[in-house]
Amino acid sequence: MIDTHSHLYLEEFDEDRSEVVERAKLSGVKHLILPNVDLETVPSLLATKKQFPDYCSVAMGLHPTSVGNDYQKDLQEIERLFLDENPVAIGEVGIDLYWDKTFVKEQIVAFEQQLQWAADLHLPIIIHNREATNEILSSLRKFVGKVTGVFHCFSGNETEAKTMLDFGFKLGINGIVTFKKSTLPQVLSKLNINDLLIETDMPYLSPTPYRGKRNESAYMLQTALKLSEIFEVDLSEIKRVTTKNAITLFQLTEVS
Ligand SMILES: [Zn+2]
Repeated sequence: MIDTHSHLYLEEFDEDRSEVVERAKLSGVKHLILPNVDLETVPSLLATKKQFPDYCSVAMGLHPTSVGNDYQKDLQEIERLFLDENPVAIGEVGIDLYWDKTFVKEQIVAFEQQLQWAADLHLPIIIHNREATNEILSSLRKFVGKVTGVFHCFSGNETEAKTMLDFGFKLGINGIVTFKKSTLPQVLSKLNINDLLIETDMPYLSPTPYRGKRNESAYMLQTALKLSEIFEVDLSEIKRVTTKNAITLFQLTEVS
C-alpha cells in the first residue's frame, strides 16, 4: 500500500518518527506522500524527506487555511524552497470555507495559481476541500484536461463523486469510511476501486478502532479492510489496485 496523504513531519511524530515508519513498513505500507501545509511546515517536511529519502515523496503547496494577507509572498517562497526537491504533486491546496471565510477570494486566487503550477509542471494536485465543493469544481473546470489529481479526504455524495471522476480525478479514502455513521460506504459501493486511493491524513482521522488516537500509516489496513468489505473483494485485490492507482497518478517509478 501507499499512504497518499501523510503528515509524518508534524511535531506529533517528533518523539518516535522512526518507529512510526517501522510499523508502517511492517504493515505493508511501501511509500508515503507528504503534502505540505504552509511556510512554517517546509523545514520539517524537507528534513523528514531527507531522513527517509526513498520512503517519502513530497508535495509542494500552500494549504487554503494558511492563505492570508501575505499569500502571494508565501507562494513565491514555497516555490523557491521546493525548487530542488522534485515534488511528485502540488498539495495540499484547495478551498476551505469551514474554518474561516475571510479570505475566500484570496483562497480561490491561490488555488488557481497552484493549479497553474500543476499544469505547467505536469504534476497532479492533492485537493483539500471543506464545504467548498462548488467553488473548487468551478475553478477546476478551467483546467479540465490539463490537470489531474486526487480529492483528498473525499466524503461527498454520488453526484459529486461522478463530477470529480469526470474531471479526471481520483478520490482519497481514509479512516472516515470506517466510522459507524459514515454514509461513504454506500456512495463508494456505486463506484469502482479504480477510482480510489487510500490515505491516512495522519496524525488526524484515525480509523475505527483507533478513532480519537493519533493516526499513523500502519492503520491504513483498517481502511483497506473496510474497502474489501464494501466491494466484496479480497484485501489483496484492494491493496493491489489502490497501490497501482497511486503509482500511476504520482508517477512513482521507484515503488513497486
Ligand atoms: Zn492533510
